[in-house]
Amino acid sequence: TTIKQKELFGHPVGLYVLFFTEMWERFSFYGMKALLIFYLTKYHLFSDIDGNLLIGSYAALVYAIPVVGGFIADKYLGFRKAIIFGGIMLVLGHAGMAYEGNAATESLNGEITRDNFALQIFYLSLAFIILGVGFLKANISSLVGELYNEGDKRRDSGFTIFYMGINLGSFLATIICVWLGETYGWSYGFGAAGVGMFFGLLTFVFGKKHFLGKGESNELELLNKKTIGIKNEWLIYILSVLSTLIVWQMVQSHSVVQNLLIVAGAISFIYIVYYAVTQLNKIARERLMALTILIVFTVIFWALFEQAYTSLNLFADRILDRGNIAAGTFLSLNALFIILLAPVFAWLWVKLGKYNPNTAVKFSLALMLVGLGFGSLVMGINASEMGKVAIYWLVITYFLHTCGELCLSPVGLSAVTKLSPAKIVGFMMGVWFLATASSEFIASILANIASVDTTNGTAPDLNLAKQSYLKLFEYLFYTGLGFGALLLILSPVIKKLMHGVDKELNN
Ligand code: GLN
Repeated sequence: TTIKQKELFGHPVGLYVLFFTEMWERFSFYGMKALLIFYLTKYHLFSDIDGNLLIGSYAALVYAIPVVGGFIADKYLGFRKAIIFGGIMLVLGHAGMAYEGNAATESLNGEITRDNFALQIFYLSLAFIILGVGFLKANISSLVGELYNEGDKRRDSGFTIFYMGINLGSFLATIICVWLGETYGWSYGFGAAGVGMFFGLLTFVFGKKHFLGKGESNELELLNKKTIGIKNEWLIYILSVLSTLIVWQMVQSHSVVQNLLIVAGAISFIYIVYYAVTQLNKIARERLMALTILIVFTVIFWALFEQAYTSLNLFADRILDRGNIAAGTFLSLNALFIILLAPVFAWLWVKLGKYNPNTAVKFSLALMLVGLGFGSLVMGINASEMGKVAIYWLVITYFLHTCGELCLSPVGLSAVTKLSPAKIVGFMMGVWFLATASSEFIASILANIASVDTTNGTAPDLNLAKQSYLKLFEYLFYTGLGFGALLLILSPVIKKLMHGVDKELNN
């Protein structure tokens, strides 16, 4: 017998608990991320290159650890416990970010003195955030999937609603944290992020009854057993807290992160192949293959899209004719467009009926749209002649990028929960985010194409800076269109590999 789920607006009440938990989690995550490049370049006087690379390493780790978090949840903790643990780590990490120390100073001969203690606290806080997201992000998405039974038609719209929660958090953060950071100082912006995460944790803990037992561990006996006198469950927590020490060091080394990504990618790939060959029948195997191919293409999408927090953020600061509007505020456009357009897209897919493009075609549209978004900036720079670039070009960019995101991201999350075998959903959700991790890393290297020399405190020459952004944006324009076309060509094959799941996905 199944317990009748309590519903609200046609969805299980648990969905709204997850909506608000993830809203606060993303509030803290994006509030902090929006301030990050300016905190590094303006407060600690990092060069563009070092700032971009640090963000690349951080963001790569933030999205790579969910593979481990997903795996641990599948095998031991269950989603609910993993999410609570992640939430606690996040609150601690964001609290640490509120410590700001002293600004770096630059002497007349260009020598920079930095507050190294403050920087180490900062890196350690990042490590806590990385572990926290690692335990929370993929698992909360998987738990959304658990709320619906197999074949439940509401699943896609459930993910769309959840995705709006993500972006409501991001929207509020890029307005509130950016404003607090600009007006009152870094620690207020970062601190607000931490307060938000605390609300998220409370929401989740008090919403427990609405999950109706979903997301619990299947291995309670194992968790309660003791190893070296400590309950296994606690052993997992203790080892995870200790691993922040390793991550603390890793985040400071770009090359270590790079190697980690290569190794993690290779191991995940081998595990998927091994699992597919030994555990699955032909149909399940081919579905997993389709999912894996789609995931590979998301790497390119996010590498372009994630310019937002590095090159586009700096571009807005330096090149955009933005008057008194803080550069970080423009990041809220993406979230705003998602909130406005997500229901439109959800409606559109249904409305298109049998003309509804299949998932692979949607992904290829996403790639082309993200490319076109950079086309807008290329035109904007060319149209600006000797002056700054008008705001609306960037608005168009975020509009197109958001349309692309809506063709790929919510559809993708839903696809993961349907195309992967039930036993490895948590892990595959982790792999989905591992793809983003690689993108973040690649994105930071790409962003460096447009790095501008700001040493000696001199403002960069506007026209020289414009040329370097132009070079980057042209390159990204062609990349998006090219890979989009490639995926379009492959789409019939991928559709076949999905064996009908695709049809269900689009309903
Ligand atoms: N913006 C979305 C989120 O924060 C997607 C992130 C991603 O998968 N790269 O969840």
